[in-house]
Amino acid sequence: MKILHNFSLKNKHSFKVDVKAKCFILISKIEDIVKVLQNKKYNNNLLVLGSGTNTLFTKDYPGTILQIATKGIAVVDQDEKEITVEIQAGESWSGFVAWAVNNGFSGVENMALIPGTVGAGAIQNIAAYGENFEDVFVSLEVIEMASGKTISFDKKACKFGYRESIFKKDYRNRFIITKVNLRLAKNDEINTSYHSRYGSLEDELAKISNPPYNIRDASKAVTLIRERKFPDWEKIGTAGSFFLNPVITKKELVGIQKKVPNIQFYPIDKLSYPKPDDPKFIYSDYVKIPAGWLLEELGWKGKWIGKVGTSPNQSLVVMTQKGATAQEILKFAEKMKLDVKKAYSIDLTPEVNII
Ligand SMILES: Cc1cc2nc3c(=O)[nH]c(=O)nc-3n(C[C@H](O)[C@H](O)[C@H](O)COP(=O)(O)OP(=O)(O)OC[C@H]3O[C@@H](n4cnc5c(N)ncnc54)[C@H](O)[C@@H]3O)c2cc1C
Repeated sequence: MKILHNFSLKNKHSFKVDVKAKCFILISKIEDIVKVLQNKKYNNNLLVLGSGTNTLFTKDYPGTILQIATKGIAVVDQDEKEITVEIQAGESWSGFVAWAVNNGFSGVENMALIPGTVGAGAIQNIAAYGENFEDVFVSLEVIEMASGKTISFDKKACKFGYRESIFKKDYRNRFIITKVNLRLAKNDEINTSYHSRYGSLEDELAKISNPPYNIRDASKAVTLIRERKFPDWEKIGTAGSFFLNPVITKKELVGIQKKVPNIQFYPIDKLSYPKPDDPKFIYSDYVKIPAGWLLEELGWKGKWIGKVGTSPNQSLVVMTQKGATAQEILKFAEKMKLDVKKAYSIDLTPEVNII
């Protein structure tokens, strides 16, 4: 286990801002996590990192960063119809999706090419084109930072929501995810129930194949769309969508529709959203609307201020040119937020972890 001091984080988060960590440790064996937790010199002010594709470091980090890079995919259970797979937290998510698709296991094909690690996928409850991490989730294993103990969490205990889990809120910085168990179906078929909501996917499928489509078609179609829609994060500073899509009441939606008549909206009942404190809360009273659409209406698509801008294809995707500072990125995002607040009285919340 190598412990690096005063280590540049430039290549460790996808915004590539050049700040430093006091200590940086690459974890390739689970046993090394326990060793770090037992070492008083390194075990305070710990921050766990996957691939850094949902993280923006804004200043030097005064503690120890543990980058989880453990690898491995193992089949742990199966019957005629389904298979359970145990994946090490440091595995690449898109690598895992490719493995599943190549082996004919369905359930994650629409989440092809989402950057990052499997462990962070659980933290964020990643999702794309109607498929959510939680839909295939069985359980995960963590190491508690304070005690070094290994604990298991089932689906209910993870409290998944829209880009959310208990590890982002109540249990923030308490546990290190080491392994994740997912259950996939042993068939080639794709779930088409969400397709009418994702016209771009239907169009792409029609371009590349003929019905009935299979999981290889779906993952290829999603890959092609994503390659056009997102900048290449390995070359360009970005973390994908900078803000979450807002969840609003249907009453609020009517107000927005007066200003943006064609705005798309999606039901939120498919996901187990954490309920607000309202005792009369009913899922069907709420909808999710695309933040990118609101921003585009306000002229934010392909807009640049100095070295920070948005994608010409999607105004929610903030991008940077070489040398952009964290302050420039934050200032840019604050302007976007302010514009949306002024025009629609909606508070945008960052999806990116700002450290
Ligand atoms: C171009 C682009 C497109 C994207 N598209 C999508 C998309 O379609 N859908 C989507 O949902 N997301 C998308 N994202 C966001 C990103 O891919 C996901 O959030 C992904 O899960 C981040 O993984 P990571 O390993 O890079 O996380 P990191 O940024 O390294 O970490 C994210 C958070 O998880 C914590 N964490 C990471 N690993 C562990 C662990 N093992 N134990 C405990 N805590 C941990 C970190 O402390 C941090 O708080 C996109 C990002 C980019 C750059």
